[in-house]
Amino acid sequence: MRKNVMPPATLIDSFGRKVDYIRLSITDRCDFRCVYCMSEDMTFLPRDEVLSLEESARLVKVFVDLGVSKVRITGGEPLVRKNALWLFEEVGHLPGLRELVVTTNGSQLEHQAQALKKAGVKRINISLDSLDETRFRKITRVGELSKVLRGIEAAKQAGFENIKLNTVLMRGINDDEALALLDFAIAQEIDISYIEEMPLGEVDHTRDSTYVSNDATLKLLKDHHNLISSTESTGGPAHYWRIPHTNTRVGFISPHSHNFCESCNRVRITCKGELYLCLGQESKIDLMPLLRQYPHDDQPLIDAIVNSMTIKPKGHDFDIKRATPSVIRFMSMTGG
Ligand code: SAM
Ligand code: SF4
Repeated sequence: MRKNVMPPATLIDSFGRKVDYIRLSITDRCDFRCVYCMSEDMTFLPRDEVLSLEESARLVKVFVDLGVSKVRITGGEPLVRKNALWLFEEVGHLPGLRELVVTTNGSQLEHQAQALKKAGVKRINISLDSLDETRFRKITRVGELSKVLRGIEAAKQAGFENIKLNTVLMRGINDDEALALLDFAIAQEIDISYIEEMPLGEVDHTRDSTYVSNDATLKLLKDHHNLISSTESTGGPAHYWRIPHTNTRVGFISPHSHNFCESCNRVRITCKGELYLCLGQESKIDLMPLLRQYPHDDQPLIDAIVNSMTIKPKGHDFDIKRATPSVIRFMSMTGG
């Protein structure tokens, strides 16, 4: 039983930014090994160092009590975690939670899309970096494109409010597919966001060698489509563009070319219960000891979370020209 406490209604950091969005990673494991996200040989955490799904649900409830209205479940690949669906069902209809969303590589969606929708998931982001089977395999090292395409179809059938593709373009690897991926999104009547590759963890290539600026991608897409800048936001760092007579919005997440930290409204929780105040900095506090030491009292957790707002950094410290990344955690560890 959770002890009844009176938390403050909102989380505000020392720069006056309101934090109302959490990204919770429920596993560092994945069935893919995308070249920009992981190294080929990954060592994953032992199970007892990962929060149980019950602990994850408790955290979500505490954050929602603290005024968080949007929760993204991510990973690693969240849908390969055993019984992941239980967590979605447990928190999906919490009063105060406006949006439960998930980021997935799509490999499990064929079988899980309907259940996720029923559990209360409103929007879904599916990563897709290539429409060519051989290239898709090369980028993900092990992934099967046809399975992901079936997953996208299943998500459409399930009737989510919104489906968005996430695409990381890499120079010389898949940057020539920017337009084909947009045309695919238009044909599927779904959204697409282009994400600039971030220097998170050491991978087999230097980030500088594959960097593609979103400005260059936008310019290329504009040569073929009438992109009209939009002021709408989904509460994230993406800047959106509309294409008349289509149902597709095009987003750009550009940590390098357009810093988005000023309006940052989120914090991230790793599957080990570390609360990272910024994706691109090391500031964090550990919530796992508090979860385990006080299984029936949320107050110590609430105090720690509220106090952590004072160490939320002003912005990230990404620099793709640096030989070693400033952040040694892989994206799969912090949760994308
Ligand atoms: N496995 C799920 C997936 O691929 O969608 C969720 C986790 S993944 C870490 C979340 C997002 O982060 C994906 O869209 C992925 O493309 C992106 N990502 C991973 N590593 C990245 C990096 N170094 N730079 C930019 N985006 C990255
Ligand atoms: Fe797995 Fe997602 Fe990372 Fe690819 S981007 S390796 S699918 S966690």
